[in-house]
Amino acid sequence: MAPDNRIAVCPGSYDPVTNGHLDIIRRASAMFDRVIVAVVNLPTRKGGTLFTAEERVAFISNATAALGNVQVEPFSVLTVDFARAHGAKAIIRGLRAISDFEYELELDQLNRAQAPEIESVYLMASAKYSFIRSSGVKELATFGGRIDELVPEEVAVALQERIGRRRN
Ligand code: ADP
Repeated sequence: MAPDNRIAVCPGSYDPVTNGHLDIIRRASAMFDRVIVAVVNLPTRKGGTLFTAEERVAFISNATAALGNVQVEPFSVLTVDFARAHGAKAIIRGLRAISDFEYELELDQLNRAQAPEIESVYLMASAKYSFIRSSGVKELATFGGRIDELVPEEVAVALQERIGRRRN
């Protein structure tokens, strides 16, 4: 890849962003010239999301502002089409456990069939974050569990306001 063309896309729902996501984004930002965090914006998606696309984008933008080469954008097209439109040659995904592998393998095959020129790159989750997933954090927040070490402070506050129950 030419030095001026090392752009990677980090796609996901990020509902909401966790410290696990941020670890992957941070590591990707050290490997590529520019990282575009692509936030799925599909209002019709089954089940919907807890936070709007605008809120999810803002949480990530605030948490990555210091990195300098990370931009955050909502998207509602195929990931490979989004990557192509932005000149990205790589899609970054995080792998937590064997349970992620099967889904990611399938996704990679589908993406590769659509866009063979775009490579998916997998970063292994850091041990510290490998148990964190957005759905688990939301469940913890619902029942008043401690989430301050799992997500940025702004996200913890927003989660508590939206779905948290006070512990007594
Ligand atoms: P999806 O929309 O596919 O459910 P997510 O928004 O949950 O995706 O996550 C986006 C990407 O971040 C995925 O590649 C996922 O595997 C990865 N990821 C999520 N949580 C972690 C974590 N704790 N450590 C490393 N990678 C993670």
